[in-house]
Amino acid sequence: MDTAAVLGIDDMGHRARTVGFQTGERNVFFHVLTACNLSCKHCYINPAQHGSRRVSREEMGGWLELFADKQKKTNLIFLGGEPSLHPDLAYGIARARELGFTVTVDSNGYLFHDFLERVRPEQLDYLSFSLDGPDSEINDPIRGEGVFAVCTGNMRRAVELGFNVSVIYTVSSKNIDHLDRMVPLLVDIGVKRFFIQVIGLRGKSAGSERQSGPAAGEEPLQVSRERWLSVVPGVAEAAAERGIHVTYPKVFLDAGEKFECAGLVAENYFIFPNGRVYRCPLCEDHPINSLRIEDGRLVAAPGLTEGNFFSLTIPEGCVMNKLLQPDTIAYDRQGRPEFKISCCLLKQEVKRQL
Ligand code: SF4
Ligand code: SF4
Repeated sequence: MDTAAVLGIDDMGHRARTVGFQTGERNVFFHVLTACNLSCKHCYINPAQHGSRRVSREEMGGWLELFADKQKKTNLIFLGGEPSLHPDLAYGIARARELGFTVTVDSNGYLFHDFLERVRPEQLDYLSFSLDGPDSEINDPIRGEGVFAVCTGNMRRAVELGFNVSVIYTVSSKNIDHLDRMVPLLVDIGVKRFFIQVIGLRGKSAGSERQSGPAAGEEPLQVSRERWLSVVPGVAEAAAERGIHVTYPKVFLDAGEKFECAGLVAENYFIFPNGRVYRCPLCEDHPINSLRIEDGRLVAAPGLTEGNFFSLTIPEGCVMNKLLQPDTIAYDRQGRPEFKISCCLLKQEVKRQL
């Protein structure tokens, strides 16, 4: 199924382009380990569900082969934990290239095991850094003491060496008011792509907030629809004006926009080191993965899985969002949802108009 990209003006009058799910495009998110040197407030890693082992070198190569398909453009994203903690990451990158993947590494910026010396810029399509604030005052309370300096230092080194550098900024109530100040920083460093993410209540953030609510006196981490729309599209436009390619999740569908579940119309795989393979990222905190890797083969998981939910049609849009975070949905007096929540994998892109 091919969903054409929708070109339009968004709520705030900016030229945002909703990127539909493209026929034949595949995304493989490979968590090679779950260990990390940091402990960010919103971390979604969940060792109870995904284990604490790392894939062996043999598994890394074998599992890449399971998902390789030279007939289809496939984006491979190496993730963790912190993927550069894996001593065989450079091997995995080289093997992924041989298998025809478009390759990205998502790092917290620490780049262990002499990453910048062992990987060549031409082996990677993007080296992506997570940064949650334009300075240490905003970033470090979220990601850890001293992280801003290390991360931006390695970003500058990577740009100098010729890597295509991108940045992921996870928007929460703690940093949304500082998003605009990211634009001059990204321009100064030479960042090419900017991914603005919405905080998801999964993993650690789910554990603390969902069970007990935000700590006394603290705002919830998630931001409202109004706050999101009043900040994110405008900053995306400003970054695009400076030549940066910006991507952010659609989150709220506009009236008349069609809802589609990526589990049905797209090919996304989220691989964890314990062999679980999910098709939907919202399901990752639950043992309902639809696939698993067993003895080097990709097999369907038995029983009730995420796949049983994808085809359920509800007025709220994404069924897993309704089940797992119903407080994100607003209803009118008749009990009808005021807007549909889109699939969390549906993106908007803003690029400078040439
Ligand atoms: S969010 Fe990423 S960098 Fe932060 S603790 Fe979790 S895995 Fe590590
Ligand atoms: S987030 Fe919702 S719409 Fe997207 S794949 Fe999961 S269930 Fe489907």
